[in-house]
Amino acid sequence: MRVVQLTEIGKALTNADVTVPEIGSSDVLIRIAAAGICHSDAHYRAGISKIDRLPLTLGHEIAGRVEKVGTDVTHLSAGDRVCVHYLVHCGTCEFCVRELEQFCRSGRMIGKHRDGGYAEFIKVPGANAFLLPDEIPFEVGAIMMCSSATALHALNKARFKPGESVAIFGFGGLGFSALQLARTFDCGDVYVIEINPAKLASAASMGAIAIDARSADPVDQIKEASAGKGVDVALELIGSAKTMRQAVLCLGPLGRATLVGLTVESMSIHPYTELINKEVEIIGVSDHLATEIPALIEFTRSGKLRFSPETLRVVDLNAGQINAALDALHDSIDHVRTVIVPSCTSDL
Ligand SMILES: [Zn+2]
Ligand SMILES: [Zn+2]
Repeated sequence: MRVVQLTEIGKALTNADVTVPEIGSSDVLIRIAAAGICHSDAHYRAGISKIDRLPLTLGHEIAGRVEKVGTDVTHLSAGDRVCVHYLVHCGTCEFCVRELEQFCRSGRMIGKHRDGGYAEFIKVPGANAFLLPDEIPFEVGAIMMCSSATALHALNKARFKPGESVAIFGFGGLGFSALQLARTFDCGDVYVIEINPAKLASAASMGAIAIDARSADPVDQIKEASAGKGVDVALELIGSAKTMRQAVLCLGPLGRATLVGLTVESMSIHPYTELINKEVEIIGVSDHLATEIPALIEFTRSGKLRFSPETLRVVDLNAGQINAALDALHDSIDHVRTVIVPSCTSDL
């Protein structure tokens, strides 16, 4: 089968031909119909995020059709449309039995620690494959399995409740999903904090209160717009100590700031005046959980989470096209997502 692999850190991905994986009794083989190209993939290619081995087939946002089913897999049949939860986990450790598989000691991420979706076929444990309703195109089924799933996890970790207000720091892929998902909770006011004019306009067109962080301190702007109250929940999706601190400071009493963006910087907080007094919480968010996927699928099926066709760009399973898409991620300012749709050549 055709795959596109990372063979050397810092170099372009290359085309390769490998054998179709043999499945075990608990696995399924999926014929990939769509694989999202993600910022993380650009980081693996550049060596910014570490991977385990080379060569490696990248790609962790995957949807397709079940081709073969292991004898122990009972919830799927050949021909089923599926999307893939990217964290492969043991299922038996102290964390897995509590359905907290992101802490599984032997957890392996698809497309990082094991071969991923820049391929015609992929083998995954049956437990990682979720039925994808016919109403959801494969392309959407693929891209919702990363940033949208994590945005939902962030709202869940914040214990976001109907009527609550939320401040979303950063309006990239995570923020775009977070805004729509917040609505599924029947939220109150949504503030989107950005410096990019196109993203501010996009957030406003989706009904958010756009806060231009270039014009004045965003904390002051949020306080003013909320009559001094502040927000109930803040999501930091950028990965900067400055915006993390702003996410804490814009909270009202009993507010929760969930930190999703990654940074190696330190953040300073004055415990008494900034946390204790208001009983606010700072919550870390890492990935998302298999138990959250069914709700995500339902939000998408029912149209509450939407990716309009004009925001999806398709490339073939071809190293040249994929490298160009990864290069273009650096300066993308819109919400266009590139998805690999392999042209059908292989028969098993
Ligand atoms: Zn991703
Ligand atoms: Zn485990």
